[in-house]
Amino acid sequence: MSHGRLFRIASEWQKKKKTIWRFWSGMRKTWKMRAAALLLTAVCTVGASFAAYADDVPSGPASDMELIQRREQASGSQNEAGDAQTAAGSENHAGAAEGQQTTENQETGNNGQTASETQGTEQGDSQVPDGMVASGGRYIDPNAPMVALTFDDGPYAPVGNRIMDCAEQYGGRVTFYVVGNRVNSYKSEIQRMYANGHEIGNHTQDHKYLQKLGAQEIRQQVEACNQAVAAITGEAPKTVRLPGGGKNSTVLANISQPIVLWDVDTLDWKTRNAASSVQTVLNQVKDGSVVLMHELYNASGDAAVTIIPALVERGYQLVTVSELAQFRGGLAGGTVYYSFHK
Ligand SMILES: [Zn+2]
Repeated sequence: MSHGRLFRIASEWQKKKKTIWRFWSGMRKTWKMRAAALLLTAVCTVGASFAAYADDVPSGPASDMELIQRREQASGSQNEAGDAQTAAGSENHAGAAEGQQTTENQETGNNGQTASETQGTEQGDSQVPDGMVASGGRYIDPNAPMVALTFDDGPYAPVGNRIMDCAEQYGGRVTFYVVGNRVNSYKSEIQRMYANGHEIGNHTQDHKYLQKLGAQEIRQQVEACNQAVAAITGEAPKTVRLPGGGKNSTVLANISQPIVLWDVDTLDWKTRNAASSVQTVLNQVKDGSVVLMHELYNASGDAAVTIIPALVERGYQLVTVSELAQFRGGLAGGTVYYSFHK
């Protein structure tokens, strides 16, 4: 089922629900009529739900706008759900429960669909707040401060999942620059990154310093990592991070994807000290910064779960590298970026 179609079904169902509710309200003058209305509503609810699901159960994660619409429905229809629990209650309850968990943090994931696709196909029937853009399962304000936290050298599930848990709790998304030869050892972590709207970047196949390699090997290192990720998610990384940031003219001539380095270096790999990384980030971060951390160390995970809420508290939106670039001038192949300041 296409996303557009799913939305039409969802919005038609919302309209039907309102009509049913008005009918039910009018009927509740006598208990007999009320009982009849309840029965009718219950039959309609079960029937409509069954029809929607029987048609085609979506196999992938929900799209950005589905998730947002669900949350809006959940918060908007709580009164109605409270009154009509016996009738249309089951669906509203599920929605309301999700809404309560995610009202502030908007933690649900997405399917990796880009913001531009979402805008193109779905903005028409959605209620996006003024000036906001749907991306990665939540809204982004393109004019408000934003920062991209990046974690290199993974995947490594024990730390990566902690980082994602925390980021998602705060409505944030992060970027993982992964080493191709590791991804098959952490397939489900890679799948979670992709499904929940985090970005998977290319950190080469074997973490070799590319400035020491010839043209063909450079190309192989980048291409093999692209393929390893795509074999799991169906989509190759958009950007490349050079191991150690090492580059020369041969490296730049043989990588066609945008190269994203950083402007805030925590040196977490060296210090293995969470407090030091936290302090570096909070002292140096600016709107449009790209922060370098590493996924392999518990101390980096400790730092991340402190940094994430602290940045949100300071008004930063936690976005992926591609989201940051999208709102700050875009990305060009073969170009090296260090930050995306305004
Ligand atoms: Zn690295």
